[in-house]
Amino acid sequence: MSDRVLEPISSSLLRRLFKWLILCILVFSSLQAWLNYRTIERSFNMMVSDVAATHLPLLSVAIWDIEPQAIQKQINLLLDNSHIAYVIIQTSTGQQFVGGDAEKIFNAERIVRNIPAPAEQNGNVGVLELVIDKTVLRQELFRSCMLVAVEVSVLGIFILITVSAILRRDLEKPMHQLADFVQNLQADQLSSQLEPDLEPRHRYTEIGLVLDGFRTMQNSIQKHIHHQDELVHERTLQLEKAMGALKVLSVTDGLTSCYNRLLFNERMPGEIQRAARYQRALSVLFCDIDFFKSVNDQYGHSVGDAVLIAFAHTLKQALRSEVDWLVRYGGEEFLVILPETDLPAALEVAERMRLAVQNELSVLLEDGKLLRITASFGVAQKQDKDSVESLVQRADQWLYFSKTNGRNQVQPRLDEN
Ligand code: GH3
Ligand code: MG
Ligand code: MG
Repeated sequence: MSDRVLEPISSSLLRRLFKWLILCILVFSSLQAWLNYRTIERSFNMMVSDVAATHLPLLSVAIWDIEPQAIQKQINLLLDNSHIAYVIIQTSTGQQFVGGDAEKIFNAERIVRNIPAPAEQNGNVGVLELVIDKTVLRQELFRSCMLVAVEVSVLGIFILITVSAILRRDLEKPMHQLADFVQNLQADQLSSQLEPDLEPRHRYTEIGLVLDGFRTMQNSIQKHIHHQDELVHERTLQLEKAMGALKVLSVTDGLTSCYNRLLFNERMPGEIQRAARYQRALSVLFCDIDFFKSVNDQYGHSVGDAVLIAFAHTLKQALRSEVDWLVRYGGEEFLVILPETDLPAALEVAERMRLAVQNELSVLLEDGKLLRITASFGVAQKQDKDSVESLVQRADQWLYFSKTNGRNQVQPRLDEN
């Protein structure tokens, strides 16, 4: 549609009307020409009988009395008739009287009448010959046809102008407004109402019906979009909830419900940067269950799992606040991250945890006995140039020292340094 030039309905209707008008002009002009021809022919025949009735008796007397002037007068009276171009009177005594335009004699129609002798006398006194001027007839015919053509044309043009104005005002204009409105309708403007510049009496025409239909469609689309928006909103909430649950699952260790290594790798660089930017302390505890392998070996893997769950729970209980967080770093090794905490405070936390494990953690075995365990801790505070790796590595080194130094202890010992 966009590449094609618009052809208004009114133009095509007017074009068709114009063709009909031309046809009407031709038909009416021809009809009128024929009627005029018949009328002119009738009046011409009447003129001829008039001549017979009025001029022949007078001519008869004039010729009988041999009065050339009277004969000539009758010829002039005959020539007053615009259809008669030339008059010839031939008397029986051999005299000839003529009058009129001699040039029109050739190829012209002639009417010949005998001039009877006056009353009570027998025979003819001469012959009257009238040369008819057909051009006058033709001109009259042409004039009357032209008059009809002009009348029909003026009437037709008046009808065309009226129809064109009505079409433009009542059809083309509202249709253009409707088309413009629809073309400019954007998805986010569906609520804007179509208000065409229509007179009230035109609201109950077919255009009014189209507008009503369009409004109904617009309302339906709006309702549909509104419904779709609600659906999308509802689905988005469900999706966000599912995504949130998935995110929690993806960063949570399935056995102990602690954070996993993935979350540690994501979150720890941020902790390091925050501590460096605001010059805040940051410490980590590395802790590892002592002789855990022998728990597995002696009581089975499921008891080992139960110990891991209980160990993680004990550490969580010992966390100070929401800002501290616990990560299962691997196997039975856990990392506790303590923001805003310097080394002495971190050592205190580690010691509290160690004691909690030692004194409070126990797992009920099948034989009814309680299994108790201990754990070793390595603590490190972030130094200026520390990265995640170097900080964790220093804590791991202190853990290793705890292990080699007899286990169930926290390293370093500040009082020994
Ligand atoms: P140490 O005091 O030197 O730490 O001795 P350890 O026996 O704890 O040392 P090691 O690190 O060699 O033992 C770790 C064991 O933890 C080995 C592995 O079988 C066990 N383990 C790791 N992950 C799991 C787990 O998810 N469940 C269970 N039951 N055992 C695990
Ligand atoms: Mg261990
Ligand atoms: Mg270990």
